[in-house]
Amino acid sequence: MEGPSVHQAAKRTSHLAGQTIEEVYGNARQPIEELVGKKIEKVRAVKKRLFIDTDGFSIITHFLMYGSYRINERREKPERIGIRCTKDTLNIYNGSVKVLDPKSTEYMEYDQPERDVLSNAFDKEDALDAMRRDDRIIADVLLDQDIFGGVGNIIKNEVLYLARIDPRSVSSSIPEGKAAELIEVVIDYSRRWLQSKLTGNALTRVMYNQQECECQKRVTRENMGEYNRRTFYCSSCQALYQ
Ligand SMILES: [Zn+2]
Repeated sequence: MEGPSVHQAAKRTSHLAGQTIEEVYGNARQPIEELVGKKIEKVRAVKKRLFIDTDGFSIITHFLMYGSYRINERREKPERIGIRCTKDTLNIYNGSVKVLDPKSTEYMEYDQPERDVLSNAFDKEDALDAMRRDDRIIADVLLDQDIFGGVGNIIKNEVLYLARIDPRSVSSSIPEGKAAELIEVVIDYSRRWLQSKLTGNALTRVMYNQQECECQKRVTRENMGEYNRRTFYCSSCQALYQ
């Protein structure tokens, strides 16, 4: 799940706030019994993680590639964690779940809204500085969760096309104005994707998984970068900064 899907999950489960956790189950090897009797204070998303904060420990879920959740329903597979609350039940499958003390270092490392492109607290100036100092290719920098939290492979491909930047470009070689423009495109695209999920109007992809560019040239597809991720680009529309 990329950031917009996790933010959607937070919105869809926000009504859990105010409810008390009556029962906890699941195969997460975490201190889940700590949660029984706790009152949920807030459900929120930070980068690609869902935070369920209680008046005690918090449940922090990273859905990874195949994670999913159900509200007041069960899937036919074991829950990673399930919480039965006063009115509603939330079941989470296949993700990575942590039950953490909000005062712990690990919790604080995850709780960085200033690095979440969908948060109003996102620090654009820090992101610009980081981009300008980084000699990796931009396709890798965009996936770096310490710079662009919430961005995944789909957002990466779409925004590089929308900003007309070749994914093989060296981040530090992208002119400052262009880099700042890319940051705005990342924020805008992520918000539009979240909005489309909340309203049920699918967002049309223009580059990810496409055969043909809007200019009618063939899209190049290549695995690239630190994580060898699938990348799509149009070499005539997108400028290469070396
Ligand atoms: Zn093109």
